[in-house]
Formats: sequence, C-alpha cells, structure tokens
Amino acid sequence: MENIDTVIIAVAVMTLGAAFLGAALGWASERFRVEGNPIIDQIERALPQTQCGQCGFPGCRGYAEAIADGEAINLCAPGGEAGARKLADLLGREIPTAGVAEKPPQFAVIDENRCIGCTLCIQACPVDAIVGAAKQLHTVVGSICTGCALCAAPCPVECIEMKTIAETVDNWKWKSPVFQIRRVA
Ligand code: SF4
Ligand code: SF4
Repeated sequence: MENIDTVIIAVAVMTLGAAFLGAALGWASERFRVEGNPIIDQIERALPQTQCGQCGFPGCRGYAEAIADGEAINLCAPGGEAGARKLADLLGREIPTAGVAEKPPQFAVIDENRCIGCTLCIQACPVDAIVGAAKQLHTVVGSICTGCALCAAPCPVECIEMKTIAETVDNWKWKSPVFQIRRVA
C-alpha cells in the first residue's frame, strides 16, 4: 500500500513538474519570440529600398530573403559596388568575381507637353515619386525618384525619359582601384 502511495506521489510530482516546465517554455517562447528573420531584416536594411526589382526579385524584401537563402549578393544595380560590399561585410561572403551589376544613377523626367494623364506611371512607381491626376499632367519628384525606370515602359505615349545624374563634387565617389580583401585559411 505504502509503495502505491509513493508511486502516486512520484507520478503526481513528475506530472506537476512537467506541467510547470511546459508552461515556462510556453511563456518563454512568447516572451522571447523574434518577429520575422533577423538576418533577412539586416540584409533588407543594407539594400537601397528602391523596390525596383532590377535584381529580378519582387522588391528589396524579396531579394533579402533570396540572399538569406544563398542568392548572389551582386544583383542590386542601384546599390552598386558599395551595396554589394556592405552585404559581403554583413554576411562574411565574397563579392562574386563576375563583379556587380552597376548602373550610373539616373532619374525619370516626364515631358509634360506630351503627357496624356493616364496615371499608368503613378501605378508603376514603387516609391510614389510621381504626382498627377487623371487627364492632368504628371511630373516626377526628383528627390524621391530612385531611377528604377519602372514607369517608362507602361507610358503609352513614351513621354518618360530616364536621365543620368551628372557627376558633381557632391555625388562623386571613389571608383577604383578597389582591392578585394581575401580571407587566408
Ligand atoms: S518615377 Fe519612375 S524611375 Fe522614378 S522611382 Fe518612380 S518608377 Fe522609378
Ligand atoms: S504614363 Fe505617361 S502619359 Fe501616362 S500619366 Fe504617366 S507620363 Fe503621362
């Protein structure tokens, strides 16, 4: 009889212990839960947020997720060499020898005399850099435009021109030589 009591007490204590541990783990998983994937968030923050899709992925978040899955880090044209280097430093990866898809910075200009106010460019712009209204002229806010060129193709009258930003002392960047830092085993 005494043995049965001992067994019952032991089972009860173990059950209570297991319940307590389970509750503690449940609480901890809620309390210390990390929303999203921190590395994807870090990669996304290192990307230029142009949401232009020139990397072949749906916006910067899409490319960040792909990079976290092992995608090449040299596909972001707006980010260029500097952007790829930031990613390489962040992830401890080498920049592919194929180099970086680099494009001179540019911005969109609408020929307002030819614009028919169809609003297609507004719908295409990922950063809301175009202002206008239906059947009214449209214009690009240069300070917001990232030069992604997504607005040019849908324009039915082809009145959007992509212009290269002229290099000035303000936006001049050291180009080469850039020495690749190689890890020695
Ligand atoms: S205005 Fe055109 S080029 Fe500029 S960000 Fe918008 S879609 Fe891209
Ligand atoms: S797509 Fe072209 S025509 Fe249409 S509103 Fe934009 S600039 Fe004007």
